[in-house]
Amino acid sequence: MILDVRNLQVKYGNVKVLHGINLAVKPGEIVCVLGANGAGKSTTLNTICGLVRPSSGEILFDGKPIQRLTAFKIVEQKITQAPEGRRVFGTLTVQENLDLGAFTSKNRDRVQKSLKWIFELFPRLAERRSQLAGTLSGGEQQMLAIGRALMSNPRLLLLDEPSLGLAPVLARQIFKTIREINESGVTVILVEQNARIALKLAHRGYVMELGKIVMEDTASALLENPDVVQAYLGGAGA
Ligand code: ATP
Repeated sequence: MILDVRNLQVKYGNVKVLHGINLAVKPGEIVCVLGANGAGKSTTLNTICGLVRPSSGEILFDGKPIQRLTAFKIVEQKITQAPEGRRVFGTLTVQENLDLGAFTSKNRDRVQKSLKWIFELFPRLAERRSQLAGTLSGGEQQMLAIGRALMSNPRLLLLDEPSLGLAPVLARQIFKTIREINESGVTVILVEQNARIALKLAHRGYVMELGKIVMEDTASALLENPDVVQAYLGGAGA
């Protein structure tokens, strides 16, 4: 396992929102996390990347506990969460936003290589490298957010609703690119409201309800599971 989350509990103040999550990811997988609004999906990602502290439980990365490390140290360990598209730095250019993503890397060659790769994945960003990020379209900002995360050369990439607010054609493009990123060797955890497209892309999936994992299986089995079809895929025949 590259990531092993064991009995993770999180409280916001006195309110418990994660009630003992167990979730494991193998190297090279895309694992999706499905669930209704408020189920605790974003909290799970934010806890893995060190933005939220667990009240108990363990997060092992390559077998070593990381749940007490700072968010900065976790990026250094090669776990990176792509921010939401709207959280790029609007008054900086595309290039400057990407440069910021490489803040942990002192190896200029490595940074140049990442930049070249990101511009191949997202040619639109290459064309617009001098444009202020705040003037990009929603889809372009989402590409930039993913590109910025890739600049830290992650081994595990956390994506929280990368298709949010995108037109279907752009969403498909983002998902195709996520597959390419994964095929290049990056392990991915994907939180996504669009369950059908997420399950088609992922190898395995987890379903969360009210702060608990209620189901886990291969993505193909979940796509055919009647409860999943009913709750997350728009019912039979949809
Ligand atoms: P969505 O699909 O709507 O983004 P989610 O599954 O990602 O939902 P979370 O954002 O993790 O769910 O929220 C889980 C619960 O924790 C919700 O009830 C939410 O209101 C609560 N919550 C999230 N962040 C905080 C916070 N900073 N302080 C207090 N409660 C919070």
